[in-house]
Amino acid sequence: MDLAINGGLPAIEDPLPPYDPISDDDVENALAVLRSRQLSGFLGAPGEKFLGGEQVRALEASVCDHFGSHHAVAVNSWTSGLVTAVGSLQLEPGDEVITTPWTMCATATSLLHWDLVPKFVDIDPVTYNLDPEQVQASISPRTRAIMAVDIFGLQSQWARLRQIADEYGLYLIVDSAQAPISSKGRRSDVYPDIWGYSFNYHKHIHCGEGGVAVTNNQALAARMQRIRNHGETVPIASHDLPNNLGYNFRLGEVESSLLLGQIQRVDALVNGRREAARRLCQGLDEIEGLQLPSRDHQRESAFYILPLQLEQDKLPASRARIVEALIAEGVPGISEGYQNIHRLPNFGQHIGKGSRGIPWSIGPSDERVQESSCPVAEKLHDETFLGIHMCAAQFDVAATDQVVEAFRRVWTHLDQLEQ
Ligand SMILES: *Cc1c(COP(=O)(O)O)cnc(C)c1O
Repeated sequence: MDLAINGGLPAIEDPLPPYDPISDDDVENALAVLRSRQLSGFLGAPGEKFLGGEQVRALEASVCDHFGSHHAVAVNSWTSGLVTAVGSLQLEPGDEVITTPWTMCATATSLLHWDLVPKFVDIDPVTYNLDPEQVQASISPRTRAIMAVDIFGLQSQWARLRQIADEYGLYLIVDSAQAPISSKGRRSDVYPDIWGYSFNYHKHIHCGEGGVAVTNNQALAARMQRIRNHGETVPIASHDLPNNLGYNFRLGEVESSLLLGQIQRVDALVNGRREAARRLCQGLDEIEGLQLPSRDHQRESAFYILPLQLEQDKLPASRARIVEALIAEGVPGISEGYQNIHRLPNFGQHIGKGSRGIPWSIGPSDERVQESSCPVAEKLHDETFLGIHMCAAQFDVAATDQVVEAFRRVWTHLDQLEQ
């Protein structure tokens, strides 16, 4: 029998049903808002409308309720949310923020927007998150904040990171874009200064494009509200001014209304991804040379991505060929490697802003880290990691069976992939 990559019939002949968190009621709610013609309630001027319309505020109240925060600031993407969150800390240009190379680029670019220097610390090869002990060892006199990420849906160690941040007087921001785990499902009741979620169309819940930043700190919430909506137009105390250049990061009423029901169902939706990932893990358990996430990981992750590793020394074919073969068999959402943000030219070559090395060149250069090296992240990306994007399909029982069959088929014919 030929593998699909060699002209055979694919294991998965028809595209698998898509993942879709939006219900008919959500659509009805959005239609009602559309019919009302009240598509935004924001005004970039002092007064009631500075904080947005009815749906935006209802969304923010619901987010606080479900994610256990006192304040929520809804924005038009989580990229905007990250820029907003970082700006609200009012750090000085040239200050350093510790972050991870394994994330989506916006985590780190949000720092460059405020002329802050990202300091990349290597990840843990089991959790793929920042290793708190390495974070602690990397703190310098210029470090002002830690920006962690709950990558692939597994929470970073909030409690330990909080402890370190407090000990050194640093802010802690967590990018939870991939882990919309409600306060009920969270491992710790310890909070970052700011955290937040993405509502773009390939996340667990979405409105096309959107995001929300959350905090328990009233002052940070007020600054984020200003950055969201042309804050320079609103009179405030002069000591609270630095860095408060405003943007238009306002979320629309239709988008907000689409999210209200989804926030209510977020636990069930996350559980659905978790169960689908566990079913896949069960099916893939006996595949030689394929490493599944740890038991803890399988229990706790929100599974935005199912992370896998190849034991390349046990396999006669390269990772690239294996992934190509799986794609040809019809496995959705699979790709090799992840990100190594520290190697993007903006960061690796210090050309984030113009040609003069800003923000790295701000301040005494002898103190400055010249190059980041993250050997664990680099090896995973270059050699062993592959991931399945769990929001790429519904992955019901029938679909996970087909995906497992596709893996088995490729593994029984690995000889066909030798080069
Ligand atoms: C999706 C994502 C973002 C960006 O969110 P958008 O809403 O697409 O701007 C940031 N960080 C991580 C880890 C993400 O997965």
